[in-house]
Amino acid sequence: MPGNIIELKHVSAGYGRHKKEKPGTDALVIKDVSFTVTEGSCVCLIGPNGCGKTTLLRVIAGMLPAYGEVLVDGKDIRTLRRKEIASCVSFLSQISQVYYSYSVFETVMQGRYVHGSSFFSGTSSRDREITSQILETLGLQDLADRQITALSGGQLQRVMLARCIAQQTPVLILDEPMNHLDMKVQSELTEYLMKWRTQSVRTESGREYKPTIIGVFHDINTAAYMADDIALISDGRLLASGRKKDVLTKELLEKTFRFDVTGYLRKYQYCIMEP
Ligand code: ADP
Repeated sequence: MPGNIIELKHVSAGYGRHKKEKPGTDALVIKDVSFTVTEGSCVCLIGPNGCGKTTLLRVIAGMLPAYGEVLVDGKDIRTLRRKEIASCVSFLSQISQVYYSYSVFETVMQGRYVHGSSFFSGTSSRDREITSQILETLGLQDLADRQITALSGGQLQRVMLARCIAQQTPVLILDEPMNHLDMKVQSELTEYLMKWRTQSVRTESGREYKPTIIGVFHDINTAAYMADDIALISDGRLLASGRKKDVLTKELLEKTFRFDVTGYLRKYQYCIMEP
């Protein structure tokens, strides 16, 4: 039976002046959140804009200080050095502007730097071999020498995902990675992730893990398709969590969004007419 790879206990967090607020106060962005993620599962966070989903992902990725307990693979993420965090957790966010031009191959290989003795220690032939394999799996081999500034949004996001995969971390965090991508590219990325989930990740320490995904998806259908478990967040608090069939209910979704979600989905879901 797989154990918990992520354990959050009474986690509170915020930014700027909110950082200094005492746990338990409403002024924080994340307020007393507790939940666990089983190794090998995919958990999606769902909630309205500004409710704290990205903030919670940042806490789990060790990017933001927090009160309470944040354990990833049994370790308190806040006590780890950046390099240790990067061998535990990889983070893929929305497509952003890229300002530095590296080739696709170099960009994906950056995911391997975390396993070198230092950033300047260079990469080994094994790193290059792993990078080539990942490029091939993601259908990027023909673009290997292309500068990333010359890629389309969909291609760039595939490269960024390949860099995360190259990191070989037990946990992959996804923060709205499909935004701005067309249906075909979204579907390709989703299916790649679903396939990746069925493989095992062997970390540099030699341990094998079932990959775990924790993510936020703009589209509720993608979240429902990918997730085993759902956590509903509202105003920085965990409203409900558990198996998707138990959590994606009319009552809980409407409580989370304070809005007629069922009516919205019924009205705006487009049904293609077959001839
Ligand atoms: P969500 O991902 O659910 O849309 P976020 O976690 O991005 O929500 O934001 C939650 C709250 O934290 C919002 O009120 C937002 O304005 C605030 N916030 C997010 N990032 C920062 C930041 N870097 N500095 C200050 N406040 C922030």
